Amino acid sequence: MKVFKFGGASIKDAEAIKNVASILKNYEEDQILIVVSAMGKTTNALEKVLESYVAEDGKAFEIYEAIKSKHYELLQALFPEGHEIFATVNDAFIEIEWVIEEPPQDEFDYLYDQIVSVGEMVSSKIVAAYLTLVNLETNWLDARDVIQTDNTYRDGVVNWEITNKRAKEVVPPLLEQKNFILTQGFIGGTSENFTTTLGREGSDYSAAIFSYALDAESMSIWKDVPGILTGDPRMFEDVTKIDRLSYKEAIEMTYYGAKVIHPKTIKPIQNKNIPLYVKSFIDPKGEGTVISEDSEISYPPVVVVETDQVLLHISTRDFSFVAEHHLGHLFQVFAKYRIKINMMQNMAISFSVCVTNQPKRLATLIEELNENFNIRKDENLELLTIRHYKKEVLDSLLEGKIIVFEERIRETVQMVLKDIPVMKRKT
Ligand code: ADP
Ligand code: ASP
Ligand code: MG
Repeated sequence: MKVFKFGGASIKDAEAIKNVASILKNYEEDQILIVVSAMGKTTNALEKVLESYVAEDGKAFEIYEAIKSKHYELLQALFPEGHEIFATVNDAFIEIEWVIEEPPQDEFDYLYDQIVSVGEMVSSKIVAAYLTLVNLETNWLDARDVIQTDNTYRDGVVNWEITNKRAKEVVPPLLEQKNFILTQGFIGGTSENFTTTLGREGSDYSAAIFSYALDAESMSIWKDVPGILTGDPRMFEDVTKIDRLSYKEAIEMTYYGAKVIHPKTIKPIQNKNIPLYVKSFIDPKGEGTVISEDSEISYPPVVVVETDQVLLHISTRDFSFVAEHHLGHLFQVFAKYRIKINMMQNMAISFSVCVTNQPKRLATLIEELNENFNIRKDENLELLTIRHYKKEVLDSLLEGKIIVFEERIRETVQMVLKDIPVMKRKT
């Protein structure tokens, strides 16, 4: 069997869903487990419902109703009047109403997962019903019945033993009945049947979990790009497609922040040597990119830019060296607040780290560190990573920028950059 993943952009409206069905027509004879994200930008919109609900600003219902209407418009474009999907979608949305009718009491992260997961519940029901409508027989599967996580809401940690066991029990009998199974990305369930999510953009990871647990022959992620490119096409003009990537190269790229695949996706598929195809839903016949155990590849320079970076300069108050015991403590505090260090450098009495700006979490982290250290914060920075760099590529990317700090290890260069302040001559 194969695993396919369709992200938000591929099912953003009625035309897009029809396109997904036409792609799947080509695979009618194959057994496929299909993982879908929420439609378009639904997850962002649901986050807004939650923020308004928690802030009690009276706007939560309005934002929620707008999301619901958008889904109903789509249903009207895809299904005949009176089709049972209208009631099914309504039932899924009601879960949100139940939460936001009451004053907010539960913990934020828990509420987040209960509300935001509805995006995937709804999209999966719609796509499954549409495939069935166009004679692509499909079973709908609740991912929470397979993927079990702990109760770290918003960042569920997968219990692999239970997930593997359940996947092997639940999925093969469904595939015996119908060739396609359609399920949700991004979500899991706890042992007490509460819904969890796996982190933003986590649907790629869900697909990898299913691929691993089911020993899939391959996994394909369908995107709005021809494959993995040498840089983000939203930022750079002259990007080209990379035809083949090794697992190692893919994990490095995503670790440094390439937004095309969730970084947790690679490990499960590498562990079982499952090839991962990144293909275009706009040009489904295109070759895409294949990621596999392939070490004989020579790569062009690959550029990853992470914006909204913050540098924290942490220095000891008493002029003592930043030695092992300090570092141990610092890393513990970063881990406690789940703040990923993107780059770091340590000097005699100071330690600098580059992290992605998350104002709330950083404020609590700084408060805790302030007890023992002086902290200076530098904001609005950019983290540039180039793998397999060439001098010309680097030079062109540095125009208008000041290098705040840099590191070069073998073929990777990383730099924290700041815009050169513009000075105008007086006239
Ligand atoms: P999905 O619909 O699956 O969630 P995403 O929007 O998360 O898809 O990912 C696809 C987007 O990733 C592309 O539209 C592209 O702008 C961006 N992207 C960033 N870096 C790269 C890269 N190196 N190669 C291809 N796409 C990239
Ligand atoms: N819908 C979720 C998000 O937007 C998960 C995903 O799309 O991968 O983050
Ligand atoms: Mg995505």
